[in-house]
Parts: sequence; structure tokens; C-alpha cells
Amino acid sequence: MDSLRPPRPELESLVPYDVKDVRADIMLASNENPLNLPGELLEKLADLAARIPYNRYPDPLSNPLREKIAEANGLEPGNVLVGNGGDELIFDLLLAWGGPGRTLIDLPPTFAMYGIDAEMTGTTVVSLPRREDFSIDGEALLERLKPGDIDIVMIANPNNPTGTLAAETLLIDVLNATDALVLVDEAYFEFSRHTMRPHMSRHRNLVILRTFSKAFSLAGLRAGYLLAHEDVIMELTKVRQPYSVNRFTQVAASLVFRERPVFEAGISQLLRQRDMIVCGLEALPGVTVYPTEANFVLFKVAHASAVWRDLLHEHSVLIRDFSRAPGLEDCLRVSVGTEAEVVRFLGAMDEIISRRHASDLFGIAATAQRHLKEGE
Ligand code: PMP
Repeated sequence: MDSLRPPRPELESLVPYDVKDVRADIMLASNENPLNLPGELLEKLADLAARIPYNRYPDPLSNPLREKIAEANGLEPGNVLVGNGGDELIFDLLLAWGGPGRTLIDLPPTFAMYGIDAEMTGTTVVSLPRREDFSIDGEALLERLKPGDIDIVMIANPNNPTGTLAAETLLIDVLNATDALVLVDEAYFEFSRHTMRPHMSRHRNLVILRTFSKAFSLAGLRAGYLLAHEDVIMELTKVRQPYSVNRFTQVAASLVFRERPVFEAGISQLLRQRDMIVCGLEALPGVTVYPTEANFVLFKVAHASAVWRDLLHEHSVLIRDFSRAPGLEDCLRVSVGTEAEVVRFLGAMDEIISRRHASDLFGIAATAQRHLKEGE
């Protein structure tokens, strides 16, 4: 037979997540660290890699890494779960706390995987849109929690793609208002320095997510972790793929976690370069920049898709176009790159916006002239 039975009907409405593999000289689209691991760590990793028994399955729970993460956070290993990137852990959370007949609160515009994974697991999604400044509508959220039918809430903090940080008081109010699992996704914690970790002892339903993909330069290896009550971790171990974190990743993530002070200077530098982007974009006419606590900047500009295209095709700079996403009309997101990359991005933006501005002014002048003539 040369025919194919269709997959689950739910898949029809889904679009694959960012499968386009667009290449450019300057890649500022995925909030990665623009620098590879420091040379000294690459050397140590090469040594360690030579001693890994690749023929053996990995430790299912990444125990040595888990112990280090637990200790650094004043927790027990049973409070930590390592996954194949934060993405896998988000999926695991929806497998365990979502599913048919269960409900997630999503706060769009936010990280798209929450909604995609909810759809894949048959979880009902209640969307409570953020306000115009991308802050969470706290009243609407607390009100919606009142009936007690919500199973899980996902809050990216800072939020991706907006960069917005939620008020800690609101997060505490949410935790007090519900027994639903509350994921506070701190993927950008190393940049924001804000964490809900101190509230874990009082809230069994609080789950914190972190990743090695951003500040720690390991996006290519896929490692992330959850901090949660041991009962939550226990439930997640029932649904997770046992060998999802390979041996090499475990070794590399352990090394990076142990040596994490090495990244501090780079993180501070990225924050300075973020300020450069904010100042540079604010100086351009017609560009609105949103406050950010992460390693990326969201901004609004007329004809955003055309600006995105010009950046890529004329300047080989790739950023992320969100202009077609609900609530993000005319918005683009740029990740913080190296100083040279930031300079090149800002130069390209200056050129594109000045040209558009000049042609807009030319258009206005031509229209005015026409009106004058028609009035004659
Ligand atoms: N949460 C948020 C808010 C993110 O932006 C990302 C990465 N884009 C992730 C989780 C997942 O990151 P990773 O799978 O690379 O750990």
C-alpha cells in the first residue's frame, strides 16, 4: 500500500515550531549566548569527553548534576529534575498536570511552547491576554483562579518575547490563590536576577524552570532543570523519557554549572550591550522599545515585516519577526549579541529606518503638494 493514514486530527491546526533554518552572518533570533563556551572550558570538556563510556546508557536522572544544582539552591536532589532543555520539562509538566479534561492558564503574548504543548497533550487552554504594556492582568488572573478548576498556570518571568518582569507580589498572590501547579519559568534568570526560589518552602505548587541554553552557552546541547517540591518531581519522573539527557550533555552541564562564575563577566557585558540596543533603538524615529529584563529587546516599528526582511537580505542580520502574532502587531525581537554584532544591527536599523523615514517624508510632501494643487 502506498497511502498514509492521517495522524491525530488535533495536529491539523498545529504549525511546526520555527522549522525555517534561515542563516545569516549575524544571528540574533534565538536569545542564545552569542559566545561559545570559554576556551578553558572547551579544553576541560574535551578531556572529559574522551573518558565518557558512550556505549552505556546515561544516568536517567543526571544525578551528579542534580546534586550540584540542589546544593547551590539550598535544596535536596529530590527537588530537582534535569531535562533535555527547558522545552522537554514544559512538555513533561503538561503530560502530568495537563491532558484531556484539564486546564492551563496561558498569559499571551508569551512563550509559544506552553500553548503548543497544551494542544499536543489535549489540555484546555484559558488565555488571559496581557495588558498593552505586557504586564499580567492580575485581577483577571486571580478572578479566573477562583472557581478552582485550573490545573496549571505557566508564567514566563521575565516573559519571552516581551522581556517583562512580573511583580513578585502578584506571583505570591497567585500562589496563595490556587492549588494549581504554578510554573514560574526563569529561563532568563541569570540576566534578570529575580527568582521565586525563596517562596518554595511555603508553596508546594511552585515550580521554577531554568536553562543552560541562554547565559551558559549550551543551547546546542539541550539541558534545563526544574526546582520543585519532591512530590511534583516524583510525578514528573513517571511521564518523562528516561534517557532524554545524554551523557555528553550531563558532563558538559555539570562542568558549566561548577564553573559558572566564569560566565559572570560575560553576562554583565551582555547587559551593557542590551542597554546599547535599547538606547540605539530609542534614538530612531518611530521605534518604540519595551522595557526588558532578559537578553533580548522587543520593539515596535511600522512595516515591521519589511524592516525584518531588509535586515536579513541587505545586512545579513537575522532577528525574530513577531508582527503577525496576536498582541504583537509590528513587533520585532532582537537578541543581545556581541558588541560588534550590536553595532552592526544598530547601523543596519539606522540605515533602514532613515531610508523609510525619508521616503515617508517624501510621500507626505508629495501628498501635501498634490492637495495644494487640487486646492488651487
Ligand atoms: N522558557 C522560555 C521562556 C524560553 O524562552 C525558552 C527558550 N526559548 C525556554 C523556556 C526553553 O529553553 P531550552 O529548551 O533551550 O532550555
